[in-house]
This record gives sequence, structure tokens and C-alpha cells, in this order.
Amino acid sequence: MTQTFSEPSPSALMLLGERRDPLSERGVDCPGTLPSPSDPGLVERARAAKEALGDRVFILGHHYQRDEVIQFADVTGDSFKLARDAAARPAAEFIVFCGVHFMAESADILTSDDQQVILPDMAAGCSMADMANINQVDDAWAQLEEAGIASRTVPVTYMNSTAAIKAFCGEHGGVVCTSSNAEVALHWAFDQVGGVEGDGKVLFLPDQHLGRNTAVLQLGLSLDDCIVWDPRKPLGGNTPEAVEAARMILWKGHCSVHGRFRKAHIDRFREQIPGINVLVHPECANDVVTAADMVGSTEYIIKALDAAEPGSSWVIGTELNLVRRLANAHPDKDVHFLEDTVCFCSTMNRIDLPHLVWALESLVAGDVPNVIVVDDETQRLAKIALDRMLALPAKNPAKD
Ligand code: SF4
Repeated sequence: MTQTFSEPSPSALMLLGERRDPLSERGVDCPGTLPSPSDPGLVERARAAKEALGDRVFILGHHYQRDEVIQFADVTGDSFKLARDAAARPAAEFIVFCGVHFMAESADILTSDDQQVILPDMAAGCSMADMANINQVDDAWAQLEEAGIASRTVPVTYMNSTAAIKAFCGEHGGVVCTSSNAEVALHWAFDQVGGVEGDGKVLFLPDQHLGRNTAVLQLGLSLDDCIVWDPRKPLGGNTPEAVEAARMILWKGHCSVHGRFRKAHIDRFREQIPGINVLVHPECANDVVTAADMVGSTEYIIKALDAAEPGSSWVIGTELNLVRRLANAHPDKDVHFLEDTVCFCSTMNRIDLPHLVWALESLVAGDVPNVIVVDDETQRLAKIALDRMLALPAKNPAKD
């Protein structure tokens, strides 16, 4: 079964309620037999299938995946690192991506044509990526063109976006960024239209929080320089004057996991554990990030815990699977999760051991399931935006 994802699906939003997409449950019905989650032999089956495939398979595990899946990953990391790791293993015919759609798309773009990227459950999407639909973005751009603003605007998309949005950025002089290099990517983008001090603009997709936090905390812009573009409203819900005055046009998207953290959670931990270190991901809202002690990507969070003093206390605002693993890996440190309720990424969690076993055993049997294929033109344009990102300096040269 092969599925093409050059077009984004708003499935995650629809699952939350407004309309019904008959394709939104695609892949849930696995051809063949999906093993039962209660099968006591699952671990052994996964091990045997992986061994039978040998170097032909390479399993990637995103930091937010369940432990039952991570134990079979050849490498772990964030989405971009994993896509590059896959590209560096040309001998592997099959890349089994334990992550979500947009990550598997990026791996397909960066790997060779001889490699097939497999997503064990096609319903593992990302609600944030689905919040920027290419038709809506094309429409927003047409409105900016009509207002005479597009020529002074550079689109920048977070890695957590569909291949179609990355291709849009490639086509319109823009770039892709990660949560680690958003600052240099924004500097590069503003440099294309007169610099941060000029009157050029950035259209930031799809995560308003990463865009706002980077612009305000790292580039020195103000909250008033930022507007939010709601794709359901004319001019994104803004007046022509507000769009003209804005420096950052932030797409109305967010992460459903990091969007749950509140400043009140931080206040409560500070009250309960004086001296606790608060470390959050930049996908959190601006008041949360501002109230934290440290802000950074998943890789930054992992390194910060590795370097922390024994006996120190930490509360982390990111996905629960990662925080739990960090707590287990650092028994000499006091590690807490920032939310008071369970806060997994529900779409990431769709990749479980039964789906992994099903994918691996299908490969052993000669079937290649759930192949993610990005069409050639989308790949070509998306690669332009990804290559611009790869050419960025490692850090802001102005800060050297
Ligand atoms: S954690 Fe947020 S951004 Fe990451 S895959 Fe889940 S919904 Fe998407």
C-alpha cells in the first residue's frame, strides 16, 4: 500500500470535531493481521523480524515515542536529525519511521529514490502540521500580493509542517527552520528584505508560538510587531493597517501538547519546590516561555538534564514520554512534568508495538506497507527550502 502526501490533510482538526473526513482514519485498518496489544510475544516477534531484515531495515524513533517502540530504534532524535540519519544509511532499503507524517515526508525528501520510508500507522499525523493547509496558505499569500506586501515578505516554515508547505517556502524565497535554528533562520529571512531594522516581514508557519518567542526573545522585536493570521478570516482577521505595520505574520497554529502548559503550572512548582529549574520547549505560549528559566528544543532539554548537578530539581514542559525517560535516566536528579494531567502526543502514540511488529513482519513477508511518497515537484521545491536551511550558519554571527 502506497500513499502520497503531497497534499496536507486536515484530519487532526476534523477529529477534534467540526467536520468528518472519511480518510482521517486511513491506515487504522492494517492489511493482514494487526497483532493484539496483549500478545505476550510481541517483543520477541519484533526482535526476530528486525533480525531477519538485518541491514535492510533502519528504524528511527522520535523522542516522543513510547518506550515499547523506542527500544527497537536504531537511532533516536528530533525529526530533522532522524531524517538526516536515514539519508546517511543508503544501504537500508526500508526506513521505518516511528514518528508522524510530516517527519516521514521529510525523510522521503532527504533519502535516495532506492529507499522506502514506512510509517507504521498512517493515522499518526500532527495536529500542528495539519493546521496549515496549502490551499489556505496559497490564499493568504494571494491576499498579501493584492495588498502589495508579499514582495516584502519571506515565508519561514517550522520543520513541523507538511511537504507542501515546505515546497511553498522553497518556491517563494523562504526557508525551513527547526526549534534549534529558528533565530538564525529568522535573521536570514529578514536579511532578504532589508534586515530586522527594516520594514520587511516574515510569514511564519505553522506554529505561532515558536515564531513569536523567537522574534521577541531572540531578535528583539516586540509583541506589538506580531500579528496572528487566522486563515478562516479575510486578511487573517486583521485590518490592512495592522498587516502593513506588522513585522511577524504568525500563522494561527499551535502544538496541542505544548499548548497545554500554563504559567500557573510554573507558579505552583516554584511555590512547592523553591529553587526548581523550569525548562520548557519554545512551542509553549509566550507567557510560559517568559516565566521559565530555560527554553530549548528536545535536544537542548536532553543536554541540559545531562549537564545538571546531582540533587538539582527540574520541571520540564514538553511531551510526557520524553520527560518520563529523562526522569528514569537521571535518578540522582529530581525531575517533574510541568502539567498536572497526562500529556502525551496522541498522534505520536498511535505508533505502538503492534503496529511496529505488523510493519516489520510485513517486510519480512515481502510486502512493503504504508510507504510515504512525496511527489517529485513537491520534493524539488521543498528541498530548496531545506537546502537554504542547511546553508545557514550554526548560530547568529552577530552574537559572536
Ligand atoms: S508534539 Fe505537537 S508538534 Fe509534535 S507531533 Fe505532537 S502535535 Fe505535532
